[in-house]
Amino acid sequence: MLSRPVFDYNSLNETGNPSRTQPIKTSGLNLILISMTILAIETSCDETAAAVYGETGLLSNVILSQAIHNQFGGVVPELASREHVRSILPIIRGALNDAETSLDQLDGVAVTQGPGLIGSLLVGINTAKGLCYALRIPLVAVNHIEGHIFSINLSREVNPPFIALVISGGHTLLVLVNRFANYQILGRTHDDAAGEAFDKVAKMLELGYPGGPVIDKLAREGNEKFIAFPRALMKSREFDFSFSGLKTAVLYYLKRNTEQHRNRHVADIVASFQAALVDVLVEKTVLAAKNHRINQVVIAGGVARNNYLRQRLSQRAETENLRVFIPEPVFCTDNAAMIAWVGFQKLKQGILSELNIAPVSGMNLATL
Ligand code: ADP
Ligand code: MG
Repeated sequence: MLSRPVFDYNSLNETGNPSRTQPIKTSGLNLILISMTILAIETSCDETAAAVYGETGLLSNVILSQAIHNQFGGVVPELASREHVRSILPIIRGALNDAETSLDQLDGVAVTQGPGLIGSLLVGINTAKGLCYALRIPLVAVNHIEGHIFSINLSREVNPPFIALVISGGHTLLVLVNRFANYQILGRTHDDAAGEAFDKVAKMLELGYPGGPVIDKLAREGNEKFIAFPRALMKSREFDFSFSGLKTAVLYYLKRNTEQHRNRHVADIVASFQAALVDVLVEKTVLAAKNHRINQVVIAGGVARNNYLRQRLSQRAETENLRVFIPEPVFCTDNAAMIAWVGFQKLKQGILSELNIAPVSGMNLATL
């Protein structure tokens, strides 16, 4: 039995530059030979999450969605960081207990470095650094979007190349995934993210936060053809999105009509809004796949939980001869399991981070 490699942090070549994000290159040889277990931490926004991943797959996945933001109709950054501080240790303990793994069995800690809210990211990063320093094990920084892209692999193996549609409260991206760590961003939103549009429309209709799940459910009882809301950039050959016009169209529609009309037709209004948004997502994703001659499509992020989208994309894929892969709902919204999956690959390849990494709020996909 080989012993685990011990990381002597005091002998690392410190640069003294706190923003340095260069990964440490190791031969990876002794890291590959043993069976590995990694703890992952995700605190980029309003979920405090931890997961344990090993050679046999996911061993535990604990997620706390902070309820404190519901009353404000959106995430309040300062409150989010405070909640992370309060919950991070019990959540980590919960993940280790569920996985029946002790701290000394860990071979590394993966953590979300960005993109996300700085104050929230800091809590996860500092906790991860503390654990790595104390346990003398490597730190693995992970890009949150990269985690989303590969979240499908927690349920089934999907190998690149594929097109990934990442849609959440903060992001809307179409990505060509050539292979692990090789990504080309094909399109992104010019304004609101897809999930943000769901949340804002729900707020206008006083349906609560987060808006996506409520609209998803309510829209099933509505007529999606009731109002022809705009489908911005749908006919353009580009892959960018824009959802603020759709949001404003809903606002003007509500202003033009009486409260009585709104109450009677709330399901029709949200069904029409959802259809407009989903139409564009499906159209662009299929177009991207065809243009790049890729026959596999993956969706990810909180909005990938949307039932209407899942159904529409699957139907469309059948007629277009595309294979569509949709993660289980629990792996769509923010979670640490997806960070663990990416972290595990990096740990195996010896792509490690120094202990002086800083959070990067606007981190793009090419950074790591
Ligand atoms: P973030 O990183 O922005 O927190 P998440 O991946 O956690 O993103 O996703 C949260 C977003 O997903 C919210 O905007 C929420 O409204 C949206 N969402 C969740 N479930 C659904 C659903 N069933 N339909 C549409 N949107 C959804
Ligand atoms: Mg979230």
